[in-house]
Amino acid sequence: MSKLSLTFPLLAGIALVLLVYGELHSDADTDVKPCGGKVAVPTEECLQQLHFQQNFQADADSKIALQAMEFARQMDIELMMDDVIWLADDARQGRATGFPGEDAAAQWLAERFEELGLQVFTQMGLSGYMHKFTFPYDDEYLQGENVVGVLPGGINADEFIVISAHYDHLGIEDGEIYNGADDDASGVATVLEMARVFSQSKIRPQKSIVFLAFSGEEIGRVGSGNLCYQVFMHRLVEKLTVLNLEMLGAIRDTYVNVWDQESELARPIVAAVAAASKQLNMPLLVSAGEDPGSDAVELLDCKIAATTMDAGGGDDFYDNHPHYHAPSDDPEHIHREGFLKVAQVATIAIWRLANNDFR
Ligand SMILES: [Zn+2]
Repeated sequence: MSKLSLTFPLLAGIALVLLVYGELHSDADTDVKPCGGKVAVPTEECLQQLHFQQNFQADADSKIALQAMEFARQMDIELMMDDVIWLADDARQGRATGFPGEDAAAQWLAERFEELGLQVFTQMGLSGYMHKFTFPYDDEYLQGENVVGVLPGGINADEFIVISAHYDHLGIEDGEIYNGADDDASGVATVLEMARVFSQSKIRPQKSIVFLAFSGEEIGRVGSGNLCYQVFMHRLVEKLTVLNLEMLGAIRDTYVNVWDQESELARPIVAAVAAASKQLNMPLLVSAGEDPGSDAVELLDCKIAATTMDAGGGDDFYDNHPHYHAPSDDPEHIHREGFLKVAQVATIAIWRLANNDFR
């Protein structure tokens, strides 16, 4: 008997055991998939699955939910598109981190935050809207900057609900400008519009709301990595809850996709997004697992509650989003109606989180 013929049955046996285990294991996983793991307008049952804290109010008639709906109605798609068009203009040169086009965008964002009356995030040790960091590039160091502003809360002002998106993109490659209109000017425009409708209201949220534009996402989440450090140093890790926005505008047949991150930390955020989707009658998919590489994962790695929502795309993502990481990711490919709806879901979710509907 050769050595091989002895090992073969052994290996086959191990493979069979693994196969059976894998089968059982994946069955167990599908059982606990929140909201059935399919694209659908969330039901009461789905909201109950996501609900694990006692003061959860899924009721769309609650005072807070009605306020949130009113803010969503005030969102103006024309203003949002103006911001997408400015960020995705060729003059920004694709907003590569540390390059002049991106610096100009950071300056512009800081001015916008100031005009809206947002405050400096002093609790995180900042003295202006810019959170600057350096990173190695060829043989030198370049500077990037996250841009941050705060709308102070009331009775829970020392807790922070964060809405974020990255404003950097891929820059210029082989002479072609990558404008990143959907990735992620759409997210940044939503952050700005949310800041406008919340800050213009006389109603103040209970918790503070932080508006955050990340730099350095496309070069390995350098901006969010540095932010983690800053948050940790100022003992704010448990005080932050982050909903990150990625690519909200360029998918046909838009639905809301949110990642459960396989983490209890993300659960209240997912529950808020689900309740907001139900309020607006928007189909939702709660995707199992970590989102595939965004700033939220970087934050989660340092124990900050964070997840990402986007406009779906599903298994056929590359077919549904032909302009992803292509020079053709331009404003004319944004589907305005779907973009506005997903942005409105984010707005409702943030308002409900900031007013103790979910914690
Ligand atoms: Zn992106």
